Amino acid sequence: MKVSFEWKTITVFIFALIGSLFLLLLPASSLTLFSGPALKILRIVLVTVTLVFLFERILTLELFTKILLGMILGVIAGLVFTTGIYDVKAIGTAFLRMIQMIVVPLVLASLLVGTASLGDPKKLGRIGAKTFAYYLSTTAIAICVGLILANIFQPGSGLSPEVQAQLMKNFTGEFSEKVSQMSQGKDPVETLLNIIPTNPLNSLNQGAMLQIIFFAIMIGVALTLIPKEKAQPVIAFFDGLNDVMIKIVLLAIKIAPYGVFALIADAVSSFGLEIIFSLFKYTLVVVGGLLILSFFYPMIARIFGGMKPMDFARGIRPAQIIAFSTSSSAATLPVTMEAAEDNLGVSNKIASFVLPLGATINMDGTALYQGVAAVFIAQVYGIPLGIGDQLIIVLTAILASIGTAAAPGVGLLMLVMILKQVGIPLEGVALILSVDRLLDMFRTTINVTSDACASVVVAASEGQLEEPQHKSAGI
Ligand code: ASP
Repeated sequence: MKVSFEWKTITVFIFALIGSLFLLLLPASSLTLFSGPALKILRIVLVTVTLVFLFERILTLELFTKILLGMILGVIAGLVFTTGIYDVKAIGTAFLRMIQMIVVPLVLASLLVGTASLGDPKKLGRIGAKTFAYYLSTTAIAICVGLILANIFQPGSGLSPEVQAQLMKNFTGEFSEKVSQMSQGKDPVETLLNIIPTNPLNSLNQGAMLQIIFFAIMIGVALTLIPKEKAQPVIAFFDGLNDVMIKIVLLAIKIAPYGVFALIADAVSSFGLEIIFSLFKYTLVVVGGLLILSFFYPMIARIFGGMKPMDFARGIRPAQIIAFSTSSSAATLPVTMEAAEDNLGVSNKIASFVLPLGATINMDGTALYQGVAAVFIAQVYGIPLGIGDQLIIVLTAILASIGTAAAPGVGLLMLVMILKQVGIPLEGVALILSVDRLLDMFRTTINVTSDACASVVVAASEGQLEEPQHKSAGI
């Protein structure tokens, strides 16, 4: 790290910093000089200038270090400026939208090219079966870890009725509507049929991931069955599109330190520390379970891929950081792909097949959390859960994790499905709502770690794992 002490730079930085502090501490209503929107814009501009001068002019840092610093400063800002910092979230939203922008075309292009380049449908079937076997078994393991921990530590016992009543206040308006929507059981056959799109352009339009995946794989398979000279230009086009999308991510990732700062600051400011404290045991059990899983994947990569655990842990870190700050496996997908290929040595063919699939259907962190949450809510309501009930939880959580969209907060809504299966009052989800944003960050990190581990395992079994390169994965 180099530090520049050029006086002009330092002066601008200090003025911008003082201005930011002043504006962030200012309650929106206290000054007639600015209207609400003007104050918001000023806050965004001044905080951005402060950070740009710190990250780009005063300090010379690697991008990865800048992102970490952004995260740390975000936590501090979120704790200090509990209300003003909300306006700054726009910087994070801009970053998030930049990467979300490319998810649909990236999944389509990469899965299509990945499938087509596997060559023949038999090979695709084999790799598909391995991928599914991994996804199902690790999800089952994750949820069992969650259930075991929840049964041992009993996070739901001893929650005072006052705290309970306070937590239940969250169960209002929009949220309770969402819960009741989720609880309307869907016909499982119809759910499966829904994976086949009737109009793929609509699926692309709506970002219906499972339908897009189905469409991309079908095109990929069909491309291997038509004459080469006809297939080649189509593959070349999507291959080019794929590269363009990756390039856009690499450009967008340059603003990651600012985006991460804003997203983390906003998340931390909205936590409400007393509430976290009353749900301390529950939060601790979920985070502890996720921590156990974080040691599990490097071991799996070692056993099935012969990769040094440290190589795996270090290689996947860029994707983990983006997952932690965005709480979305889908938004992290481009970075996960880069990290798997560049850092872990997974071949492009395997990464572009296994990872888009994983981002959508493999959610180990979410499954673990759903297991703990279901037991927690049952304990609060004093409903005993037998082995049979817990088995139902395992099965429903596996299905739910396949059906869970890779977006922030969706895991909580899918929990409704699980509660319904075992007869736990659905409004119980309100109990854990206040810590959900925090836990989402942790569980999404595990979701992408598991996806990356799958790509290592499948690549190794197909002889498509090279020596890790330790490149930067764009970060
Ligand atoms: N945010 C998670 C993801 O995108 C899903 C969830 O658990 O809510 O991976």
